[in-house]
Amino acid sequence: MSQVYGRVALIGLGLIASSMFWAMRRTGLATEVTGYSRSQETRDTATRIGLCDRICDTAAEAVEGADLVVLAVPVGAMGDVAAEIAPMLKPGATVTDVGSVKRHVIEAVGPHVPDGVHFVPGHPLAGTEHSGPESGFAELFDNRWTLLVPPEGTDPAAIDRLRALWEGMGALVDEMDADHHDLVLAVTSHAPHLIAYTMVGVADDLRRVTDTEVIKYSAAGFRDFTRIAASDPTMWRDVFLTNKDATLEILGRFTEELFALQRAIRTGDGGHLHDYFTRTRAIRRGVI
Ligand code: NAD
Repeated sequence: MSQVYGRVALIGLGLIASSMFWAMRRTGLATEVTGYSRSQETRDTATRIGLCDRICDTAAEAVEGADLVVLAVPVGAMGDVAAEIAPMLKPGATVTDVGSVKRHVIEAVGPHVPDGVHFVPGHPLAGTEHSGPESGFAELFDNRWTLLVPPEGTDPAAIDRLRALWEGMGALVDEMDADHHDLVLAVTSHAPHLIAYTMVGVADDLRRVTDTEVIKYSAAGFRDFTRIAASDPTMWRDVFLTNKDATLEILGRFTEELFALQRAIRTGDGGHLHDYFTRTRAIRRGVI
C-alpha cells in the first residue's frame, strides 16, 4: 500500500489515534503525521514513545497544512475542537472523526467546517477497554469494520480517499446513514457497555452485603461479559449523553425482555427460558 495523504493531523492522542498512527506507519500511508492532545502529560508520553512525526503544543499548529485532520477526542469535545481548528484548515483538506456517535458529531462539527473543506465523519468498530497514547497498536483495525457517514452532497473523491486510508490500515469499509448508525451502535455497543457497567456495580454492592470479594472470585462468564466495564469513563459518559434517544429506546426494549425472563424464572416457565436461549444461541452462532 502506498501513500494516500501527505500530512495527517491527529487530535486527541488516545487508543484510536495512536493505533491509526502505527497502522499508517506500517504501510506508509501518510508522509507526515502531526499530533496534539490536550494534556501536557499525554504529549510528553507521545514524544517519548515516538508517536507521530511531530507533537504540537496546540491543535491549530497540528492541523496547519494538513491534508487530513482526524478528530479522535471524546464525542462531547468534538464541537469545541472543530471550532478551534477551523481557521487553520487548508482548502481542499478533509476533516474526519472517529467518534462512537454520529448524529451528534455531524451537528457539533459540521457547522464549523469552512467552505472548501470536506467533512467525512467515520467510526472504526474496533477498540479495547484500554485508553491513552500507549494503548494503541497497528493491528487494531485489521478486518474490522469502519463506517463512514458522509453528509449528503459530500465530494465522492474525498470519501474514496478516506476509504483508501482505512482500507490501507486493514479495515473493511462501509457507508451508513447517521441515525441508522446510532441505532445499530446503541444495540451492539452502547447498551452492552451500560449493562456491563451496571453488572460490575451490582457485584460491588453485593460485596458490601456478603463481605466476600465477589469480583476477585468471579467466574469466566462475569469476566468476559464485564471486560468492557473497564473502559474510559469520559468517553462513555459522552456516548450516552449524545446518543440519548437510541440508547433509551434499546434499554426500554431490553428491560421488557428482562422482565419477561424474570417472570419465567419466577413462575418456573422452563419452556420459555429454553426457547429463548435456543433462539439466541442460534442467532449468536449464526452472525458473529
Ligand atoms: P482515549 O481516552 O484513549 O483518548 C482520547 C484522548 O483525547 C485523550 O488523550 C485525551 O486527553 C484527549 N482529549 C480529550 N479532550 C480533548 C480536547 N478537547 N482536545 C484535545 N485532546 C483531547 O479515547 P479513544 O478510545 O482513543 O477514543 C477517542 C474517540 O474514538 C472517542 O470519540 C470514542 O468515542 C471513539 N472510539 C473509541 C473506541 C474505543 O473502543 N475506545 C472505539 C471506536 C471509537
